[in-house]
Amino acid sequence: MPARLLAGLFLAAAGGAHAMPLASVSAACQALGERLGSVDVQTCLQSDLQITQAASVNGQPLLYRDYLPRSRRVAPRRVLLLGGIHGDEFSAVSVVFQWMKRLQGERFQPFHWRVIPCANPDGLLGDPATRMNAHGVDLNRNFPTPDWKADAMQYWEQRTHRDPRRYPGPAALSEPETRWLLQQINDFHPDAIVSVHAPYGVLDYDGPDEPPTRFGYLHLHQLGTYPGSLGNYAGVNLGLPVITLELPHAGIMPTPAQSQRVWGDMLSWLQANLPKEPPIYLRLTEKSWESD
Ligand SMILES: [Zn+2]
Repeated sequence: MPARLLAGLFLAAAGGAHAMPLASVSAACQALGERLGSVDVQTCLQSDLQITQAASVNGQPLLYRDYLPRSRRVAPRRVLLLGGIHGDEFSAVSVVFQWMKRLQGERFQPFHWRVIPCANPDGLLGDPATRMNAHGVDLNRNFPTPDWKADAMQYWEQRTHRDPRRYPGPAALSEPETRWLLQQINDFHPDAIVSVHAPYGVLDYDGPDEPPTRFGYLHLHQLGTYPGSLGNYAGVNLGLPVITLELPHAGIMPTPAQSQRVWGDMLSWLQANLPKEPPIYLRLTEKSWESD
């Protein structure tokens, strides 16, 4: 099917809500490869990202890829891995592409991963790249936390002094990217969420139970939650473990050894701390719940 026709179908399916035509995966990979020093076009294409019916404000496709454990498991625990919810944190996107390569060849990891390497493509591809999306909204302040209505705007005005980089948007879920991420959480039912950022050089955690103390060179330092943040929404309100990895530099990649240690420690922590697979008598119940 010609790409233009395909794009037209996606636009129709999405209710024609996008002002710009929806780019194809190959066009998106071309743009990502040109923007990121550590991800080439070929690597992006080979990662076999799946297109959805959703698009960013500027019509960039919101892409994801699922990785299943190779060993047979009835109900593997699920982990949602997000890169680049802030568009000017280049390393946060590049490192997720690196980890996708690992997942591709990983024989023994036990989880079902859903990976979204670039959650804010308009911010990343902007000229210059911006933390916010194309509407100038900080997507990590746009999630529907119960305190959003009462606190988000007040927090922005009084605590950030109307910092444009932290604008939470006119309403919770005002942005197509945030709505799509929420839909991913609702459809995929993750047991944990990992969101990669930069440049604070720490490990942050929201959610139940004891936080991890360090993953590789990233040590625990809890930064607190904000009205509309993912950690607040999924960690505090939904009670899911939300791991926030803050790489130390937005424009410089961790060394391969550093990124490998972070990945390895995180995998060990998830294995030790996520609930085990449900016993066999519960699996049918869980399956029927999943199909709701
Ligand atoms: Zn960030």
